[in-house]
Amino acid sequence: MKMIITIDTEEDNWGDFSARTPSLENLRYIPELQELFDEFKVLPTYLLSYPVATDEKCIAMLREIHHTGRCEIGTHCHPWNTPPFQETSNPKDSMLCNLPSDLQFKKLSYLHEAIKNNYNMEPISFRAGRWGFSNEVASCLEQLHYKVDTSVQPTVDWGKQYGPDYSIAPTYPYYFKPENIFHKTWNGPLLEVPATIGFLRGGYRLPNALFNLLKRYPFNRLHLIGLLEKLQVLKKVLLSPEHTDAPSMISFASVLIKRNVPVINLWFHSTSLKPGLTPFVKTEVDRKEFIKRIKAFLIFTKERDIESITLNDALKVPLPPWTMRGTLR
Ligand SMILES: [Zn+2]
Repeated sequence: MKMIITIDTEEDNWGDFSARTPSLENLRYIPELQELFDEFKVLPTYLLSYPVATDEKCIAMLREIHHTGRCEIGTHCHPWNTPPFQETSNPKDSMLCNLPSDLQFKKLSYLHEAIKNNYNMEPISFRAGRWGFSNEVASCLEQLHYKVDTSVQPTVDWGKQYGPDYSIAPTYPYYFKPENIFHKTWNGPLLEVPATIGFLRGGYRLPNALFNLLKRYPFNRLHLIGLLEKLQVLKKVLLSPEHTDAPSMISFASVLIKRNVPVINLWFHSTSLKPGLTPFVKTEVDRKEFIKRIKAFLIFTKERDIESITLNDALKVPLPPWTMRGTLR
């Protein structure tokens, strides 16, 4: 099993969808994080929003890490601060997938060119801001010669926020065509590497079907899901230090090794490195715990000889046929 770490590397202004000049204080914490990655020979993938892609200090810092072969640089589009600005500023338009397709393409091209020019390389990996991915976005990515996407957040429904419904999305990597981002096909031009989310028991398909079923019935549903979680029957785990403590991430990864999963994708936001920006890291104590979780997970991966690869390295990992079978797994 290989490990990928994907980091949405973005401005401080969490949840602010206005296009005003953002601040980039959280980026000061990247060198310390990178030091930890270097110590464990881990190659992170920094997915850059437009403000990060165009800020001189960020460029100098991240270019150096990239040019010394210690990370991959990819693209992370927050449409509300990526030119051109032709849409209104509201929660619905904060999802790239809700914009007219020509505007999606213009924004992605603009961000792509900014990274290309400022970082002297061509990004081929992508994650949509707020997970706002769609067939149309995928089609833009294909036209811009992207190869890998990581915008799928399995089990999560963004419908109430005007976004995609990933309730029944696959959780292991798969190739696909832009015509249908959920349909697995070996000759697809794009590789999807979903954020790793799953269940501690029973594989992915059955517990997820049960989870979705229980979610739909209003009577006592939270109580029942909570109870089943406690009994570890329906224990859902998000492989992210923003949501999950180290022991649970480690138990989950151990289960995934036994399931012969080829690649895991641990994910978080750069904004969680500075206390008070995200809902996940509010205080200095939270920040220490956050870093502790990452470190504990890296110690585990080192002990288990789990090699760290960047997101586009996943293209070289042979996928076992079972990950490509069916739509649900
Ligand atoms: Zn983002």
